[in-house]
Amino acid sequence: MEMTYCQNCGEELSQNANYCHKCGIITEKGMEEGVKRNFDSEIEKSLHLASINIEEGLSKVSEIIKEASEELDPQFEVVRDSLHSLIEEIKEELSKKQR
Ligand SMILES: [Zn+2]
Repeated sequence: MEMTYCQNCGEELSQNANYCHKCGIITEKGMEEGVKRNFDSEIEKSLHLASINIEEGLSKVSEIIKEASEELDPQFEVVRDSLHSLIEEIKEELSKKQR
């Protein structure tokens, strides 16, 4: 079997290898086969799904805070407001990453 070497770590690899089994980098053959592209889109998909879940989770937290604050001391509003701006910040960060 023909052998090649990993461009990253120098590990000896089969020419059929799409990835280095030692460091995980994609080989030239892997690039040619479009493995990287598939891999990236899988990551993108997962990140997108994760951010949807986080947004849903954040909305729920907002709801809970809102409900709780209605039953609590007005002092709680200070806490609620700071939590709220934190949530807004996280949402903003997420929407930046989606672009
Ligand atoms: Zn390697």
